[in-house]
Amino acid sequence: MAISVHTISLGIANVFILNNRGTVLIDCGPPKKADVFIKQLEAAGIKAQEIGLIIITHGHWDHIGSAADIKKLIGADIVMHQQEKKWLEELYESPLHGVGIWGKILAKTMVPAMKPFIHVRPAAVDIALDQFPFSLEPYGIAGRIIHTPGHTTGSISVLLDSGEAIVGDMAMNSLPMRLSPGLPTFVENLEALVASWRMLLKENLKIIYPSHGGPFSPDIIRQALSRYTL
Ligand SMILES: [Zn+2]
Ligand SMILES: [Zn+2]
Repeated sequence: MAISVHTISLGIANVFILNNRGTVLIDCGPPKKADVFIKQLEAAGIKAQEIGLIIITHGHWDHIGSAADIKKLIGADIVMHQQEKKWLEELYESPLHGVGIWGKILAKTMVPAMKPFIHVRPAAVDIALDQFPFSLEPYGIAGRIIHTPGHTTGSISVLLDSGEAIVGDMAMNSLPMRLSPGLPTFVENLEALVASWRMLLKENLKIIYPSHGGPFSPDIIRQALSRYTL
């Protein structure tokens, strides 16, 4: 039976449920979205108690915002990269690096303007990864967590054996960040991002699921990368 990938939209960001012999959740969306999450989960016919693991792709507020509430509701362990553990446990904030004119405008204007309205609650990270890949077989999913630095240094992605990649903010496909699918508008280390994509594109990759916007073909990234000689 193929793994199903359910997309749950929590306002500005998507979260994903992978469902096969087991069930895992990827990302927790912005703050105050736990109720919407549970409702959409039930609508998809999945019970909260079935979720065996919460994978958080990276520590930005729109991915960790409802982690504390969702963890309380479903009672699963949270896994994150070791380097970003304190982003959730201590609400450490790293500055956003805008790429291109639009990215720089957003980083300077929209992001600071939203800040007073962002209330993230801390949560404990149960599994802090520093070894990769991390197999999801014990959780009933034929796939693995891989380290894909670039958007942030501790960014991780989920790659399924069947060719789906859930990449967090390693790519973006929605307003206000982008008009069309492509590389992210905020990048901590562009060289690392390009290297992560080159590594991922060597895999048997069929479709890319970003956190912002709908899924798209890896060919779009292949094309975007052809501009870089890094
Ligand atoms: Zn991000
Ligand atoms: Zn994001």
